[in-house]
Amino acid sequence: MEVGRVWLLVLMLILATAAKKPDPVREAVATFDQKAFLENIRTLASDEFEGRSPGTRGEELTIKFLAKKFAEVGASAGNPDGTYFQKVPLVGYTIDTGASLKLIGSRGELSLKFADDYVAWTRRLVEEVQMQGEVVFVGYGVQAPEYGWDDYKGLDVKGKVLLMLINDPQVPDERLFGGKAMTYYGRWTYKYEIAAKLGAAGAIIIHETGPAGYGWNVVRNGREREQFTIDSGNKNLGLCPVEGWITYEKAEALFKLAGKDLAEAKRAALERNFRPLALEVKAELLLKNKLRYVDSHNVIAKVEGSDPKLRNEYVIYVAHWDHFGIGGSGADRIYNGAVDNATGTAALLELAKAFSKARPKRSVLFLAVTAEERGLLGSAYYAEHPLYPHNKTLAVINIDSMNVYGRTKDVVVIGLGASSLDDYVRAAARLQDRVVKPDPEPEKGYYYRSDHFSFAKHGVPAVYAESGIDYVDKPKGYGMQVRERYVSQDYHQPSDEVREDWDLSGAMQDIELLFRVGYEVANAKRMPTWRPKSEFRAIREASLRGK
Ligand SMILES: [Zn+2]
Repeated sequence: MEVGRVWLLVLMLILATAAKKPDPVREAVATFDQKAFLENIRTLASDEFEGRSPGTRGEELTIKFLAKKFAEVGASAGNPDGTYFQKVPLVGYTIDTGASLKLIGSRGELSLKFADDYVAWTRRLVEEVQMQGEVVFVGYGVQAPEYGWDDYKGLDVKGKVLLMLINDPQVPDERLFGGKAMTYYGRWTYKYEIAAKLGAAGAIIIHETGPAGYGWNVVRNGREREQFTIDSGNKNLGLCPVEGWITYEKAEALFKLAGKDLAEAKRAALERNFRPLALEVKAELLLKNKLRYVDSHNVIAKVEGSDPKLRNEYVIYVAHWDHFGIGGSGADRIYNGAVDNATGTAALLELAKAFSKARPKRSVLFLAVTAEERGLLGSAYYAEHPLYPHNKTLAVINIDSMNVYGRTKDVVVIGLGASSLDDYVRAAARLQDRVVKPDPEPEKGYYYRSDHFSFAKHGVPAVYAESGIDYVDKPKGYGMQVRERYVSQDYHQPSDEVREDWDLSGAMQDIELLFRVGYEVANAKRMPTWRPKSEFRAIREASLRGK
């Protein structure tokens, strides 16, 4: 052979080997299977699964199905105890709605009616709780060191009944409290947490429709029904004894009992130098509680990392498997929860299959959590009892209710700007010729209303991305139209079922995008970080220092 020919042969050989060199990402992406995805959604959302309510036969079927499927796609048991399950002890509590809230001031007394004037409950696991204490108005009730803001100014509020405003201080300075967007300080959950931390006897939030984002009807509805909370093992004595809301009108009346003006106090609360206002009114309430203990389960699977030095670090995908079970009075009583969240749960199975092919350096966990619909309880329980350390967990990627209407040109990141995970989403979106957009309604605080938030609270960078609203080959406005139709007709209704006209190509597009995000993080040199203005950054830094 001539020399030239030999070279050509060598070159061809090199090229052939290069072409055959396995590309794990391409191979992994090739495993995504729309038919299998739909089949799994059908099973999860079937009537047989009875709406997947925690602690029911529907739960039993669901968690067994998921464990079997995870094993089939090559993901091992995720709990270090060798199982696919993490037990989540829940408690159902039903409060006595006949109780009345008594307010006693020097200028008279008021007796408030449950549901019409106020609502209150206890998440402490006790049969009876008696609240008795002086009412103190604490403005927004916020302690935010990163904004140099403290509504308490060192006042000892132990044993007091705190009265506070909803949302975060809507100050003109856009740099404070995220401007128009709601920060965690604005959520009612935060208000009850800070009250508990400061040892208050009660925490009552003054309702206002605008700042809350919903009317009094939403606050009062369903309070007579059983609610759920986590059994933390100490009868939940770490929680504030009484938590509740009061209507704006009754809060005004309460102020009048003290000879004070609520509107004036509200204005003062917008100032950094606000001081708590003792109202010289006593609040009294006796609550009786009926308790029911229920064991539920998170399902967890794992694909071990390929690098022995990095495999004890983790990326977590989370999706809630639960929905509302059976109830209501209509002809169809099964809350199938097909979109919410059989789609996200089935996506976990697709992702586990792909990762078991691709195996990045770090390990990847697939966490299907319970009781999201009851207040993010399954994810909160995991976050409080993590099976893998938070400071070894690089990121959490949440999937809740996938797009069933086709491909989109955009991706919406809820809480865009919170962490460097945005960059991963942008890079993955670019590969699909899609653009990343912020949440169109940041004032509603959606970032704080699904499972990724349970992790953010413990400092773990968390991202929640969804299909956008700009659909490929669809008229303008189509995206908002289908979204509004879903929210008004099917969201949290028995009619959230698998439809024959679904187009899952958009969901597949998102699964691929989320796969790439997790894959890149699991291989990256550096850990993702919160942006400096994030309220979770300090928590993360402390956690990484081992505190
Ligand atoms: Zn959901």
